[in-house]
Amino acid sequence: AMVTRFAPSPTGFLHTGSLFTSLISARYAKQSGGVFYIRLEDTDTKREIAGSGESLIKQLAVFDVIPDEGYLSDTEETGNYGPYKQSNRANIYKTCIKHLMKMGRAYPCFCTQEELAELRKEQEANKEIPGYYGKYAKYRDFPIDDAIAKIKAGDPYIIRFKSMGDHNNKIKFHDEIRGDLELTENDQDIVILKGDGLPTYHFAHLCDDHFMHTTHITRGEEWLPSLPIHLELFDTMGFERPKYAHFPVIMKVENGNRRKLSKRKDVEAAVSYFLEQGYPKYGFIEYLLTIANSNYEEWRNANLDKDFYDFKLSFDKMSLDGALFDLEKVASISKERMAFRKAKDLCEEVKEWAKTYDLDFYNKITQDEEFFTKILNIEREKEKPRKDYAKYSDIYPIIGFFYDDEYNKIDLANLEWNPQFNKEDIKAVLEDYKNTIDLSLDEETWFNSMKELSLRHGFADNVKVWKKDKEAYKGHVGDVTGFLRIALSGRGVCPNLYYIIQILGKEKTLERINKVLA
Ligand code: GLU
Repeated sequence: AMVTRFAPSPTGFLHTGSLFTSLISARYAKQSGGVFYIRLEDTDTKREIAGSGESLIKQLAVFDVIPDEGYLSDTEETGNYGPYKQSNRANIYKTCIKHLMKMGRAYPCFCTQEELAELRKEQEANKEIPGYYGKYAKYRDFPIDDAIAKIKAGDPYIIRFKSMGDHNNKIKFHDEIRGDLELTENDQDIVILKGDGLPTYHFAHLCDDHFMHTTHITRGEEWLPSLPIHLELFDTMGFERPKYAHFPVIMKVENGNRRKLSKRKDVEAAVSYFLEQGYPKYGFIEYLLTIANSNYEEWRNANLDKDFYDFKLSFDKMSLDGALFDLEKVASISKERMAFRKAKDLCEEVKEWAKTYDLDFYNKITQDEEFFTKILNIEREKEKPRKDYAKYSDIYPIIGFFYDDEYNKIDLANLEWNPQFNKEDIKAVLEDYKNTIDLSLDEETWFNSMKELSLRHGFADNVKVWKKDKEAYKGHVGDVTGFLRIALSGRGVCPNLYYIIQILGKEKTLERINKVLA
């Protein structure tokens, strides 16, 4: 069984890449019968944004990423290996650092910012690798009594790890996704404890992943370059190395070039965008699975009736060179999935979404949920349902005319949608429909009645007939239903007319026709 984790820093919003990483990490743990936990990495207090830890958890939960253990909010957590918020673990890190100091593998460093800047200049001039290492590590062999005296005198300091590596050496490493890798050995004396008494990411995550029994560190590939540091730290602490899987970064294609999805440039970099727009979670999760494993779509097409959670992820089917994010594909998968939802379930989802993101719409839905469900059900329970909606916010613009008596701004004198028809014919057709309206007809009988109505007014009852002899007819039955469609919905394209009339009811239908005729 695998123990995986998601370890966000509360520095703002939930990035789409983080949702991807956490979702996939959680799935790996679940499918192996293991544990997925969340740890809040809040040791960088300068970058922290209050409340963002809790909001990350809420957004993850919308997409079914729910930890078995770990951080839930600033006051709640579950699991036996906590605390799961790093700022509450300061004593644990200090104990580990004392252990390193006793071994002679950590030391206080009193370098000021100015001294470090000097160092950088010197290294640049000598064309040497920048950083704090080897002969450049000024406080590496500083006498311990002198260090104690400086600390007692109140000199600011940090704690550094004493590396024994050499950057001329290579180390071999196996990544679960990337296979066998050769990396440059670490020789940097990195900072492990900052001046504020909190550890750096490098050191904190290592202690936590050890004490929280992580079996697989699943994280973004941006951490690959720091891996040699982490490996040296694990080995020095005497902690068993976990397995690592470095996930591909989410990329975008722009002008033919690939680049990372950027929080400044791309709306789709923030999970909140998908929540606001109302992309249903089942479509979005499915999309993320398609970029996680190259064989997902094949599996999906062969198993349409299965739940996507039945799919078994594998590391060897993950792409190595960045997962490409494609908003159009998100929409097309989403449309496909939404079309097959039951109207009742969809009603609940939309209501839930609208409650937060579109209160006007919410109020309309809750006025009469049955009415709204009927609208959603138009052409739904068919073998090939309509695929109108990619997201909840697509719904109202398409069906709003049911609610809005101002739906029809179209003046009969100004029928731009089709200038070939004259006003008198349109009026005659609408009058006739008014006089013969019958809501008790089934769909087929109703359509036959529309054909008869067409013939009565010189329109063909069949498109093919009309196409063969355009001289003999003013138009065809599709044009005639078009007049009604516009009169009732104000739109040239809309869901099935028969159901529109059924749902509007006789009174409203007549009212709308009269309005057009007036
Ligand atoms: N706090 C780190 C981040 O937000 C976690 C990386 C990791 O998963 O180890 O990038």
